[in-house]
Amino acid sequence: MHPDDDEAMMNSPDVVVVGAGVSGLVAARELHEAGAGVRVLEARNRPGGRVRTRAGDPPLELGAEFLQADGPAAAEIRAAGATLCPVPVTHGRMHHGELEAVDFGPALRVLREAGDLTAEGDLPLAAALHATSGDSDARAMAARYVEQYHAAPVGSVSTLWVTRIEEGSEGAGGGDAQVQVASGLDVLPTTLSRPLPEGMISYGTVVRQVVRGEGVVRLSLEGPDGPGTVTSPRVILTLPPAILARVLLQSALPRGHRRALALLRMGGVMKVGLRLRRDFWLDLRKDHDLPKFLHSMGAFPTWWTGPGDAPRLVAWAGGSASARLRGLLRKELVELAVAELATMIGRSAREVASQIEGAACRDWGRDAMTRGAYTHALVGGAEAPTVLAEPVDGTLFLAGEAVSESVGTVEGAWQAGVRAANQVLAMRHPA
Ligand SMILES: Cc1cc2nc3c(=O)[nH]c(=O)nc-3n(C[C@H](O)[C@H](O)[C@H](O)COP(=O)(O)OP(=O)(O)OC[C@H]3O[C@@H](n4cnc5c(N)ncnc54)[C@H](O)[C@@H]3O)c2cc1C
Repeated sequence: MHPDDDEAMMNSPDVVVVGAGVSGLVAARELHEAGAGVRVLEARNRPGGRVRTRAGDPPLELGAEFLQADGPAAAEIRAAGATLCPVPVTHGRMHHGELEAVDFGPALRVLREAGDLTAEGDLPLAAALHATSGDSDARAMAARYVEQYHAAPVGSVSTLWVTRIEEGSEGAGGGDAQVQVASGLDVLPTTLSRPLPEGMISYGTVVRQVVRGEGVVRLSLEGPDGPGTVTSPRVILTLPPAILARVLLQSALPRGHRRALALLRMGGVMKVGLRLRRDFWLDLRKDHDLPKFLHSMGAFPTWWTGPGDAPRLVAWAGGSASARLRGLLRKELVELAVAELATMIGRSAREVASQIEGAACRDWGRDAMTRGAYTHALVGGAEAPTVLAEPVDGTLFLAGEAVSESVGTVEGAWQAGVRAANQVLAMRHPA
């Protein structure tokens, strides 16, 4: 290719993909393999988006970590030779070293009953739970489960949406169907970006505005060399809803799409990963038959171990619990998590602190490129992902986890990326 052709391709490629998370990488790979001229614009200086691993032994996952064992991402990672550890679905609650079983059965029954109430119309989950016949413990547990697992505030999340997602997923009551990656999930973006030619992804390039014209989309951006513009007949946007709403000029979307986008929200998650001294970890495992997931009434309502036997614990606060931790410094968050762990296992905070080899924290609600961890729908928004998946005028294609059949997951991001790439290819080669 002549250098001038190269430059022309960079400024007006066949297809522009915005975002190099899982969705954008999968879309770019599909398109590239089909022979399209692709340019990917990514605000961060790395691929992966919400897949982010802090290297170390063991590595700490700041973002996603559980994959469907039989999904495309797990298959890709297996083929790359990385070790996948099964995730046993065992839950417990621990206080001062005493372990007690947790039964999600009553909470899941209450959630199903809440779902049945939507036959009369959608309503906020808190209101639907209130109207069920479940006792207050079961209702409180159902609410906590949705706040943590779906990172969705029960006061506003759509009951119909929760019901649909629950029907399509393993949730808390599911079987042994998930895996974690021993060496860290960032093997996925590395593997996905490998076949893309060097220079195809423009890192450090923030898309500020998206304007749709006659058969063409114009993107205003801020790159490492300053502001610029890129035009393309086809643009795939994989941005999280909060970012999408900010960069898309109102007129770029038809009314139905605009209404659907307005009904999607990103839930917050505060995640703290703790790397423990191996001897301490082995002692802990010997003294207590630790379940995979531990539930707490403290600031971090959900904890988990692994992957496999790795000396690592994750402290997780989703939904409203994450908002309560907002603004705390990293040191304060780690101290809080250590104190909570100490109470759970019945040791002193000082002893536990001395056994921490490393820690990593991430407040996804404050991440400027995401503004939350993953998507949920407000009342009336259960169909929003389906509406947004419809191409706009054959020029604008929305992807990303929010626009998928499996919202809030890596597999959803993957599926939406493949769908958008196929929609673009169908436009290039009409049947
Ligand atoms: C804490 C946490 C835990 C999770 N746990 C799991 C889990 O265990 N299992 C699971 O399946 N899923 C999990 N998820 C969800 C999963 O990470 C996401 O569904 C998936 O990674 C989303 O991929 P995406 O490509 O749609 O979006 P993203 O990964 O967000 O990619 C979008 C990309 O767009 C870029 N971008 C943003 N704004 C701009 C702009 N203006 N210009 C240019 N580029 C921009 C971003 O930097 C990003 O790289 C978790 C998410 C979080 C945050």
